[in-house]
Amino acid sequence: MYPTIGKMFELTVDKYPERQALVYPAKGQSWSYREWDERVNKLGHALIASGIGKGDVVSVFLFNTSEFVTTLFAAAKIGAVFNPINFRLAASELAYILKDSGSKAVVFERATAEQVRVAKVQVPGLQLYLYVDETVPEFAQSFYDFFAEFPSERPDVEVKQDDWYIMMYTSGTTGQPKGVIHRHRDMVEQNMVMISDQKLTCHDRGLCAAPLNHSAELHCLFLPRVHIGACNVILHHFDPQQVLSAIEQNKISVMFGAPTMLNMLLQLNYQEFDLSSLRLIGYGGAAMAPAMVLKCHEAFGAELIQYYGMTELGPAVTVLYPNEQMAQAGAAGKALLNHEVRVVRVREGVPSEPDDVVKPGEVGEVIVKGPCMMVGYHNRPETTEKALYKGWYHSSDLAKIDEEGYIWITDRADDLIISGAENIYPREVEDVFYSHPDIVEVAVRGLPDNKWGKIVAAFVVPKRPGLTAEELNEFLLRSDKLAAFKRPRRYVFCPALPKTPSGKIQKFKLDELLPETEEAPPGAT
Ligand code: ATP
Repeated sequence: MYPTIGKMFELTVDKYPERQALVYPAKGQSWSYREWDERVNKLGHALIASGIGKGDVVSVFLFNTSEFVTTLFAAAKIGAVFNPINFRLAASELAYILKDSGSKAVVFERATAEQVRVAKVQVPGLQLYLYVDETVPEFAQSFYDFFAEFPSERPDVEVKQDDWYIMMYTSGTTGQPKGVIHRHRDMVEQNMVMISDQKLTCHDRGLCAAPLNHSAELHCLFLPRVHIGACNVILHHFDPQQVLSAIEQNKISVMFGAPTMLNMLLQLNYQEFDLSSLRLIGYGGAAMAPAMVLKCHEAFGAELIQYYGMTELGPAVTVLYPNEQMAQAGAAGKALLNHEVRVVRVREGVPSEPDDVVKPGEVGEVIVKGPCMMVGYHNRPETTEKALYKGWYHSSDLAKIDEEGYIWITDRADDLIISGAENIYPREVEDVFYSHPDIVEVAVRGLPDNKWGKIVAAFVVPKRPGLTAEELNEFLLRSDKLAAFKRPRRYVFCPALPKTPSGKIQKFKLDELLPETEEAPPGAT
């Protein structure tokens, strides 16, 4: 029998009522667990009074805010389904998710108000609009006024471990977002593993700088810290300079960053900040080049822990522990406690067979089985059946397992470049570039080509103006790590790469960076 997410919160509140629970500097808020619980309860009662109850979907279209996490626990306590929506979405994308999820309420803020206003006409079923800032739009109510007069006692609703806790839309790096459903028990299970992996205690102080609407920050870091009674400092959005000062000012001990976010911190004068309180940095969501793992280790002086996973699994499915970071830099680790991970032969157009495991060193698809697996995609039985073929989640990620059992993610199946008859994994090329001192960021993608089918193109954000394709080609030649056919035939220098709010590079948007006219690439044949 598992407690629910709401019950877990209450257990913490009862244990540490006066411990500092939540700090939200943007609004000068600092609440103890008791103070936070009172707000959660009031909001829960107010939602019930406006007809929102068990099974109803409550959406937030918020950046990282105290109201985001307060709504999460209020929904959990009354058995409503929490739906955090990516705050960068355009109005039509927002409307799509609000409709697809059947949302009854949405909480939003000044920075997202315009999209909500435009989306409103397209979602007639949505009854309740709550606004968390001042100057409330005419079609919404003030979040704080909405629950001010309600009792602070805990709402009396029976929520069960198998009830739905969350519907979280995938970030759409590979297509239309899908609503991933998890029950309370799935996430409690995941959070327990995170607590033990990260050795969390109530004395930890966590920083939420990566978006809470993404499952890595929300479920690998934030929720486990609340369950254990630690303090969470919430930054409205990821601003590298602010992150460094927040670590110093709040004596942060644990935080998470996608590789691109940690890379941004590395570009600053981090030496000017006192980061000595930081004991652990989690990373994941995308691959991190071994050269960058090393740089983070040296720069921040904290231990590193990597998670590989996906929204559908809660998200973490493998872990690379601090003491494995150097020897196994670049690997995604081994299966998380209670999880089973296999690499199986890919079959054209049909799901891979779970028993068709490849030999060590061979590339195949990652499939996973574990207790935190999604119930399914909302309203998509066929896609769910395909994704969970024979009880295994089929990730579409390509990987190898080495002789010692470590999993190395090579790439997403969609990103594989087939040039001539050769398979090229973009990550392998990117990893080599990350050891170049004049490169801030790089993404490699296949571009259509009449002769080869695809050619390798590198989209490079240079640190030094004037960096040339010739220099980079020369660097690859000297490094002697890449066969000639893997070397880029085209370089595109750009000021930044397109990313999701969770820091993932959106490879499908790279083509937009291509110049209209072309110069002959160096070394092109
Ligand atoms: P969509 O499913 O819509 O494409 P998404 O890619 O953002 O959205 P997520 O669940 O956020 O979906 O991300 C899961 C994917 O991120 C994994 O399948 C994998 O490709 C990549 N990923 C996550 N962690 C790592 C990691 N540590 N190393 C390499 N890749 C990772």
